[in-house]
Amino acid sequence: MHQLTIAEIIRGLRSKEFSSTELTHHLLSRIQQLDSSYNSFISVTEELALNQAKAADKCLATGEAPALCGVPIAHKDIICTNGVRTSCASKMLDNFIPPYDATVVENLNSVGTVTLGKTNMDEFAMGSSNESSYYGPVKNPWNTGYVPGGSSGGSAAAVAALLVPGATATDTGGSIRQPAALTNTTGLKPTYGRVSRWGIVAYASSLDQAGPIARNAEDVAYLLSAMASHDPKDSTSLDRPQTDYTAKLNDSITDLKIGVPREYFGEGLNAGTAARVQDALKEFEKLGAELVDVSLPHTELAIPAYYVIAPAEASANLSRFDGVRYGYRCEEPSDLRDLYMRSRGEGFGEEVQRRILVGTYALSAGYYDAYYNKAQQVRRLIKQDFVQAFEKVDVIMGPTTPSPAFKLGAKNSDPVAMYLEDIYTIATNLAGLPGMSLPCGLVDNMPVGLQITGNYLDEARMLNIAHQYQQVTDWHKASAV
Ligand code: GLN
Repeated sequence: MHQLTIAEIIRGLRSKEFSSTELTHHLLSRIQQLDSSYNSFISVTEELALNQAKAADKCLATGEAPALCGVPIAHKDIICTNGVRTSCASKMLDNFIPPYDATVVENLNSVGTVTLGKTNMDEFAMGSSNESSYYGPVKNPWNTGYVPGGSSGGSAAAVAALLVPGATATDTGGSIRQPAALTNTTGLKPTYGRVSRWGIVAYASSLDQAGPIARNAEDVAYLLSAMASHDPKDSTSLDRPQTDYTAKLNDSITDLKIGVPREYFGEGLNAGTAARVQDALKEFEKLGAELVDVSLPHTELAIPAYYVIAPAEASANLSRFDGVRYGYRCEEPSDLRDLYMRSRGEGFGEEVQRRILVGTYALSAGYYDAYYNKAQQVRRLIKQDFVQAFEKVDVIMGPTTPSPAFKLGAKNSDPVAMYLEDIYTIATNLAGLPGMSLPCGLVDNMPVGLQITGNYLDEARMLNIAHQYQQVTDWHKASAV
């Protein structure tokens, strides 16, 4: 049963091949037996899951069940769940139990999903390897000596290890696409504003977007259809009609124009990764698409701009964790200043502290113009690169990451090497565009991801393109376990 995709689960539940309760029991016992090897879950919500499954089975029996009724999923532990600890993989929030659901959780609950638990992640979503979690690193199911990518490494690993068919995740600079690439899963970061950020712990508010990770584009389409909504509680939420992203999966892509940015195939790209991505592009040509050479000249400025803007926003967002209102509080503070300093010093891990320091510096008087304003100007140039490219092409394709997964610990002592991991993914967030990653082959038996960047609000087309590729290739079916 754990091999079933979401589409197959929907059919199986409706034709009464199995019940949601049976499926939920099966997956919970797999998590219990196997997850000690991956550490992909921070919390397993057994009681909640079985209650939701029971309710789903009742609803399915009426013949009028909502779209995802009885489908088990997991939520990244940055997404607030009513009555269920939401730790953000930080000691700071180890004891935080939200009294409400995030809008995405509410949306998914309302179509009948079953929550198996909360997935591990980099602390406050800061990282690319899932090694900065307070609860220990997540291991890549393809080889447990390797990282699964981050920051949504737990969601990606849980899907890759067949512990859950789909999971929510968030992406500020690549955190859905990069772990999807490294674990052979399919993940999509929507257009900024497509999915509500309400109830999701903020990292860098102008970049954060939630999206799904699953085993193929069709399943991602099912999850996105439920997750995306206009939400008056998020002031940046886009007022667009509810969309069924599965509706156009089978459209033809023969007139597709694919932009191939030359800057994405230069220095630093692993030869095996480049070869697999080129194979995928050839496959698209066979499907009738045309490849068009495009240029995104400001690509190399994306990382420096991001590592000013993201820490700047993070330093402001994380100032709320002060040991006073909620979260970790140090023992026996001598005065208020000591309370602030030790609560934050003891509650936040090293990478989070590094980001707060960098961000506070960049925003401080005298440096604001030199760093923050400059980075915002570069952000505009990066966005314009894409606007120009999309005048000529429908989508842009290239590698999701410069290389396949690396060994645990390999980049821990060198933050800049870690930051370079996101070289192809970050510009998408700076521009607010939708991006996805899908499996396109293996190098030394480790997965490679193909990245598709779409124009604003073009998620349905991107999923159609990915689905068509997955009809003629089997890479997404290759399994880690
Ligand atoms: N790796 C990037 C960072 O550490 C992106 C993380 C993310 O998308 N949440 O900030």
